[in-house]
Amino acid sequence: MHPFSYTRVSDTREAVDAGRRGGRYIAGGTTLVDLMRETVERPETLVDITGLPLGEITATERGGLRIGALVTMSEAAAHAKVRTLYPVVSEALELSASAQLRNMATIGGNIMQRTRCTYFRDVTADCNKRDPGSGCAALHGVNRTHAILGTSGACVATHPSDVAVAFAALEARVHLLGPDGTRRVPFSDFLLRPGSTPQREQALLKGELITAVEIPALPRPLRSGYLKVRDRQSYEFALTSAAVALHIRGGVIREARVAAGGVGTVPWKLPAVERHLVGERPSGALWSAAAAKASDGARPLQHNRFKVELLKRTVERQLRVVGGTK
Ligand code: SF4
Repeated sequence: MHPFSYTRVSDTREAVDAGRRGGRYIAGGTTLVDLMRETVERPETLVDITGLPLGEITATERGGLRIGALVTMSEAAAHAKVRTLYPVVSEALELSASAQLRNMATIGGNIMQRTRCTYFRDVTADCNKRDPGSGCAALHGVNRTHAILGTSGACVATHPSDVAVAFAALEARVHLLGPDGTRRVPFSDFLLRPGSTPQREQALLKGELITAVEIPALPRPLRSGYLKVRDRQSYEFALTSAAVALHIRGGVIREARVAAGGVGTVPWKLPAVERHLVGERPSGALWSAAAAKASDGARPLQHNRFKVELLKRTVERQLRVVGGTK
């Protein structure tokens, strides 16, 4: 492991000052410490933020929920308001990682986690994300688990988070505190597609600290849920996943929020699927027709063509589960 210094902060301003000087924030450490052991990450300074007052879940004035960045995955998954208002969030969390990791990992760290591309974690392989300009070993290597949407010639890695897919579907916002004050970034703008700079993964300015994720108020009743398809039933990342939320009133779908995971370089919002649903009456034929649009624009690689069809089936199945019509 590369030598580093360690500092612990107890106040958000102190944290931002340390971050502005180049310190890396650490909370649960469930990703960063692994990457440091593998020498993929070599921070000079770790800034321990676990003492900051960012561990609450509160209702917002507008009727949504604000989940503090230091709330652990297990705390968020078990929270009564998360479970009743946004089951898609609690289900995505419960299908992530292992119980031990969920007890340590935080919501802020979860959305910041780095890809599981095996070449990224192998410091002997070419990887533009780890070593810009070196190439991408996955493009012509084993790419079965890689992305089919949002890829570039520089990187085809998926974003590994499940709860980020739920946040993308619900159009959450990320609250940030930086040297110049606070700002709120729509989730769809927070995580960046690779383009020609895959090493830049989030729209964070120097020193900015995630303070919370805000889920907006949505019309009630809202049915929602998360489906994850993977090679084994636990402790595994998604091959495909679907986060679905539907507001159905008077037998008509009034609002639809749908996003996919395991297939995009970022959590992949599916606006064409959503548009197909709104204004229609739930039916098996509707779910099939809407889900058929889920893979629009997909560019599969040599080993992951199966994801094109698997994604459509994943979305269709979860629309049936949430929509309640066979
Ligand atoms: Fe690196 Fe991205 Fe290529 Fe994986 S897909 S080797 S993370 S550049």
